Amino acid sequence: MRPKSVLTRSSAASNKIVTAPTERRAHKIAAWTRVVRPRMSPPASRRPDGAYRKASSSDHQTKDAEMPELPDVEGFKRVLAKSALGKTIDQVVVNDARILGKLPARAFISRLNGSKLIEARRHGKHLMAHVDRGGWLTLHFGMTGALQFLRKPDNEPPFTRVRIDFSDDGSLVYINKRMIGRVDLVEDAADFVAGENLGPDALDRRFDFDAFRAAVFGSKRDVKALLMDQKVIAGIGNIYSDEILFRARINPAERTDKLAPSQLKHLFSVMRKVLRTAVARGAGSEHFIDRLPEGSLLPERRKGGRCPHCRSVLKVFKIGGRTAYCCPRCQKC
Ligand SMILES: [Zn+2]
Repeated sequence: MRPKSVLTRSSAASNKIVTAPTERRAHKIAAWTRVVRPRMSPPASRRPDGAYRKASSSDHQTKDAEMPELPDVEGFKRVLAKSALGKTIDQVVVNDARILGKLPARAFISRLNGSKLIEARRHGKHLMAHVDRGGWLTLHFGMTGALQFLRKPDNEPPFTRVRIDFSDDGSLVYINKRMIGRVDLVEDAADFVAGENLGPDALDRRFDFDAFRAAVFGSKRDVKALLMDQKVIAGIGNIYSDEILFRARINPAERTDKLAPSQLKHLFSVMRKVLRTAVARGAGSEHFIDRLPEGSLLPERRKGGRCPHCRSVLKVFKIGGRTAYCCPRCQKC
């Protein structure tokens, strides 16, 4: 039976809305779902990669923080698929409503309460879960987001923004230290992907070399920026673009239309191989990079790091505001 909810406005703090199930859970005051709304929500603006960005003071402290990329989000998808699919949602806790998309927190909660997540999909850096009563839960992890499954909800990690409790115990927690990212409910997954202006997923089987060549052909942009453009190819960010270009021995600053046809073909096959290998080994962009095969750039991707192939000190420079690492000898950068 679907738990109904009532809304009561807290007299102590006008910016808090307390949502309490009225029926079988009414006695569990401690388990009430609390929605904390900011008095003034900063305006959201769309980032070039499709994520919502909401300004916060901490944004300025780590300007070049890296965000979860395709391999990380594929890992979150596995967490969701393994631990949450088919289970009835007992309660949804929104600790900070600023992370939600257009849907108000109350509507978000009531649509999920009593439902089940029945399918997990990933497109680029977006994770989507089909809700059995219709619609899709969408998760974007921004710069510092993650998804974890907890056996006991009392172990809630810091910066948990949304928690989904299941009736047979266990909770899915969306964590995001900085308020960059988004949790939302949409009607249709394909419409959502189209609405976000996302290009094909970098590991989509239908995205073959001909499609890749058509997507990048003739571009005068540098190849690193193009690989990272979610409208062209979805899933690759600052870190994996460096790994892919290092493995392909291509200068990140090279103009795409200057690449020889053989280089373009090589780049495509290396892109697939690097991402598939990371996914298969459970490596992410910042976590578990030691799981990547020998000769990978990422474990050396730091100031003073050395090329795993020729031991040259890596060159560090900015491309389009992002920090690129490359080997001056192997990649002629
Ligand atoms: Zn080298």
